[in-house]
Amino acid sequence: MKIITVSYRLPLSIKKTKGKAKITQSAGGLATAVLSYSAKSNVNLTWVGVADFDKATWDENKDNYDRNFDIEPVFLEKQLNRKFYNVFSNSVLWALFHYFPSFVEYTDEGFEAYKRANEIVAEKINSIYEPGDVIWIHDYHFLGLPKLLREYQPNAKIGYFLHIPFPNFEIFRILPNKAKKYILEGILGSNVAGFHTWDNTIHFTECIEKILGIPHKNFLFSQESHRTKAGSFPISIDFDKFHDAYDKENVVALRNEIKGLYGDKKIIFSVDRLDYTKGITNRLKAFEKFLEKYPEWSEKVVFLLVLVPSREEIKKYGERKKLIELNVGRINGNMGNYKWTPIVYQYQPVNFDKLIALYTSADVALISPVRDGMNLVAKEYVASRKDLRGGLILSSMAGAAKELKEAITINPFDAEMIAEKLYYTLNMGEEEQERRLERMQRYLKKHDVFRWAEKFLTEIETIYQHDTKAS
Ligand code: UDP
Repeated sequence: MKIITVSYRLPLSIKKTKGKAKITQSAGGLATAVLSYSAKSNVNLTWVGVADFDKATWDENKDNYDRNFDIEPVFLEKQLNRKFYNVFSNSVLWALFHYFPSFVEYTDEGFEAYKRANEIVAEKINSIYEPGDVIWIHDYHFLGLPKLLREYQPNAKIGYFLHIPFPNFEIFRILPNKAKKYILEGILGSNVAGFHTWDNTIHFTECIEKILGIPHKNFLFSQESHRTKAGSFPISIDFDKFHDAYDKENVVALRNEIKGLYGDKKIIFSVDRLDYTKGITNRLKAFEKFLEKYPEWSEKVVFLLVLVPSREEIKKYGERKKLIELNVGRINGNMGNYKWTPIVYQYQPVNFDKLIALYTSADVALISPVRDGMNLVAKEYVASRKDLRGGLILSSMAGAAKELKEAITINPFDAEMIAEKLYYTLNMGEEEQERRLERMQRYLKKHDVFRWAEKFLTEIETIYQHDTKAS
């Protein structure tokens, strides 16, 4: 028996420079959680995903690194991959599922490529599947996969988890009928369909009922071959890793450097992929409003804005970048002076130690997505504050807001409100900071990413066993 995990990206990347291959293994939350689960439960693991390297590179390098799991890369033809990933996955599904219907650029060609890519990945999984295996499918790139696999293997244990929001019926219905049906029937191929929140789960069940006409009983959909249980499984982080990093020597040095640079000024911090869903332009306008409304904070605060390059081949991302940079320039020009730059902006990723140093230097983390499945940055900020200092301002449109109840919540569209909450949080006393962070840390320590993986995989087993007994 093994677990077959499927995600668009593999937890390993091979880049070739000057003929020399460099292999990097991902330290991302999903990879860490699934790997540690399989190690703890002594189960073999095979990871299937789309290769960002060619077959020759793989054949040359596949034995050249330490690993305790197998990798099965899928090699997609370049044009097919582009249409599958950039066109349908990111310019239709990502936009629509994050409530940006006007950003959707649907084409039949993109949809066909998406279906083809799902078929190719299904064939690959089927070729390595053995009875008893558990197949765990991740995210919006593979909405058709559970059904395709169910057709190959009617008795397989299949779990599907969506890492982005599932939109409500009024938004979902915008898709052409054939795409709606494909997606819903696709997910229903699984034994367990997981979402980050109950709201998402309810949206999904409502779409199934209204579009496919299948009712549910306690979120269970009965079908001929199996039943599908829909449920909420909020993803989390490796709490200890973020908490313990506070004391790492390099982190301490970097933190001292950052604090030294800004002296007595309070630090507002945010880090996101540059994405239109992250509410960055609204955040900037709110910061400007804050400076206008509370001029006593002028020269006493600095906003460190870290944006990580993302999906640069897609036009909407380039447009958003220009807009953000115009705003940063305008606000710095209008509000700053030769002694003070209100917004310090970088369009580059940061490594783990720098990220922790930034989290733990910040007086306020300002996280304002206009829509977000979860938002791990919010959880990471809370976990890293071993000193129990700082305040978290968090958009109520992020999945994380459902769990981080002691965050200062905001409506990310309401600049006035964000300005006021910034003022409140910057003035928050130490006792209140401690009380809020302590409660959230207690929650996160218990609900970490390992528990998430375990709960999801156990649920697949429970539903499966129940169905097998019943039949
Ligand atoms: N992150 C990163 N590179 C950076 C800065 C941050 O990979 O330069 C990580 C961050 O630690 C977090 C993830 O990116 O784990 C972002 O996850 P989140 O759920 O907040 O948003 P997403 O990018 O998945 O929409």
